[in-house]
Amino acid sequence: MSELENVFERIVGYRDEVIRIQAELTSRVALGPENGGTGEHDKAGYIKRLLERMNPELLEEIKAPDKRAQDGYRPNLIARWGSSQKEATVWVLSHADIVPPGDLSLWKSDPYKIELEGDRIIGRGVEDNQHGFVSSYLALKAVLDSEQRLKRPVGLVVVADEETGSQYGLSYLIKEQQGIFGKQDLIVVPDGGNEEGTMIEVSEKSMLWVKFTVTGKQCHASTPDKGKNSLFGAARLIVALAELKEQFNFLDELFKPSLSTFEPTKMEANVPNVNTIPGRNVFYMDCRILPQYTVDEIIAACKEISARISSELGLQIQVESVYREDAKEPTSPDAPVVKSLARAIKRVTGKDAKPMGIGGGTVAAFFRQAGLPAAVWSTISDTAHQPNEYCLISNILTDAKIFACLYLDES
Ligand SMILES: [Zn+2]
Repeated sequence: MSELENVFERIVGYRDEVIRIQAELTSRVALGPENGGTGEHDKAGYIKRLLERMNPELLEEIKAPDKRAQDGYRPNLIARWGSSQKEATVWVLSHADIVPPGDLSLWKSDPYKIELEGDRIIGRGVEDNQHGFVSSYLALKAVLDSEQRLKRPVGLVVVADEETGSQYGLSYLIKEQQGIFGKQDLIVVPDGGNEEGTMIEVSEKSMLWVKFTVTGKQCHASTPDKGKNSLFGAARLIVALAELKEQFNFLDELFKPSLSTFEPTKMEANVPNVNTIPGRNVFYMDCRILPQYTVDEIIAACKEISARISSELGLQIQVESVYREDAKEPTSPDAPVVKSLARAIKRVTGKDAKPMGIGGGTVAAFFRQAGLPAAVWSTISDTAHQPNEYCLISNILTDAKIFACLYLDES
């Protein structure tokens, strides 16, 4: 049996281990202060003990000061094995924090006690992001337990605060640990993907939320001439804003959908009764913009369209950007992390994985901002943040094999 087959066989035998670790992690509720919790301490402590047992050459807990959290900080862990080697390090980053379970009546069982249904483990956090930690950890355990020498350094990073902005998580870590992550390193973030395990996310669209306030003059509905109907203005403006789709119609096949999107979404309440013409309407638009365009270009176009409708109808229209996240330099589809990952996936599952772009919002953006090529990948059912969140044991074991190929440079 080859070295790699040996490791694979060990991984296949980890089914009970997956269940046991998932149960331990799920019972240690890791909610950040914005989500009504005190932080990730208990869960991070358990993970730290697991990592310690594998004798890392480096194991550090980096405490991001946060007055609202238990003991005034948020815990972040960095561990590395084989760090004396000069080669590029394979880093796998997962996050300890979770989102609240939401409406408990929608859960079939206690979200903090795992439930087993065949191949399925149900519980808050089992997919997002315990799947990522368990698969990357067990892959390393299998390699080390079979007394194989790592072909290159391997690092596991477990951060806090991914669900509420990463200010006390990866963003802090990158600032504090200048130089630990290198441009040659292979950085994998197993916190997104598809059911086939074939989506390697390398790029994100920019995100922009725009608020439109249309102001007219309120009056009795029977005498429209005495006022100016802001709802009519808002409706005209919404229709006119569809022009953005034609104006910014660049197509990038890396993304799904391959176009930029501009969708009117939230509408604030105006008048409470039917016989009053409203004098003020507020609505919002969610924009996901391909990296080929800048967020400022889109805001300028929104203002131009609004000015036209405003002068046509004699209404005031205010345009504000209420949230923006400008797309970062994408990871090249030819970056070593993407190529190695695709080869490892092919080797383990026989499937062809593809580099892709998504609508925005992964933690990998912090790496990319720092000029570090990162790829988001895992084999998941996409049940994150939902009631009865689940993961598949078989997917965790498959992903562990793929990580083992990366650690052993066998892809
Ligand atoms: Zn996540």
